[in-house]
Amino acid sequence: AKVAGKNCYRFYSRAMDQAVERRVRLEQELRGAWERGELSLVYQPVFRLSDSRIVGAEALLRWQHPEMGMVAPSVFIDVAEQSGLIEAIGPRVLRAACAAAARWSIGSDPLDQLFVSVNVSPRQLRSGDLPEMVAECLRETGLAASRLHLELTETAVISDEAHASALLATLHRSGVKVWLDDFGTGFSGLSHLRRVPVDGVKIDRSFIADMLRDPDDLALTTAIIAMAHSLGITVVAEGVEKEGQFNILRERGCDLAQGYWLGYPVTAAEFAQLVT
Ligand code: C2E
Ligand code: CA
Ligand code: CA
Ligand code: CA
Repeated sequence: AKVAGKNCYRFYSRAMDQAVERRVRLEQELRGAWERGELSLVYQPVFRLSDSRIVGAEALLRWQHPEMGMVAPSVFIDVAEQSGLIEAIGPRVLRAACAAAARWSIGSDPLDQLFVSVNVSPRQLRSGDLPEMVAECLRETGLAASRLHLELTETAVISDEAHASALLATLHRSGVKVWLDDFGTGFSGLSHLRRVPVDGVKIDRSFIADMLRDPDDLALTTAIIAMAHSLGITVVAEGVEKEGQFNILRERGCDLAQGYWLGYPVTAAEFAQLVT
């Protein structure tokens, strides 16, 4: 038993070493990845449920490494966040997304101007110079503030509510819209919505995934929609993979939706084709 225990220990420690090695490698490779052209953005269309029209897109980062292939964002965003590399990558993502959206203007009706939604990591939120960086990107690209949406995770905002509230208030005054991402997973409850100035919540896709077979998830989704609307907040459902989900969400008055059933993330050029 002793020997087995020892082997076991060695096995786990080797596995842990490998995990650490992989992270170190990813961090090294991620440094300079943008300059080498390995990082790019794709855009997933966001639909308005009342008329099924595309009203904007979420920018999602992709990393195509020459040897490792596609690295999942859930993996490399975490590495970027832990290592601080996100502070270099984040502003580039924001600038690229604003530049792309500035070219999407369709027609002259200001209501027809599509928005671009950009993910902001907890570290970027803490760094403090976010409002300035955002203002600079808008100035440089000529994108109207109202067409930029920032997605912040519910947990990042709640973990430092005082700081986040002040920051969000500044962004809000500048005309930029703020959405809480992965909403419902932080167990924060809806009470925070009264104290933090947000324009919208994105219901986490885990609730949407189970909505058709789990009455609890359907009840929760319905409650989020009703509560958000009573506070004048827009509701986005993400991860819509089935027509049935789409129909229920529309019936319950959800405002916007995105997901594979509606549209996969595509390049900026492909997205422009979709909307013209
Ligand atoms: P997220 O912000 O929740 O983004 C939505 C994720 O759901 C994306 O995964 C998207 O491709 C995926 N998705 C969209 N529709 C469906 C669907 O119908 N079914 C399923 N199963 N998935 C769907 P992706 O692109 O792998 O990104 C993962 C996470 O990485 C994002 O989650 C976000 O937290 C982070 N991320 C991606 N790009 C950026 C970025 O530029 N900056 C930061 N800070 N984080 C990013
Ligand atoms: Ca997001
Ligand atoms: Ca999300
Ligand atoms: Ca469930």
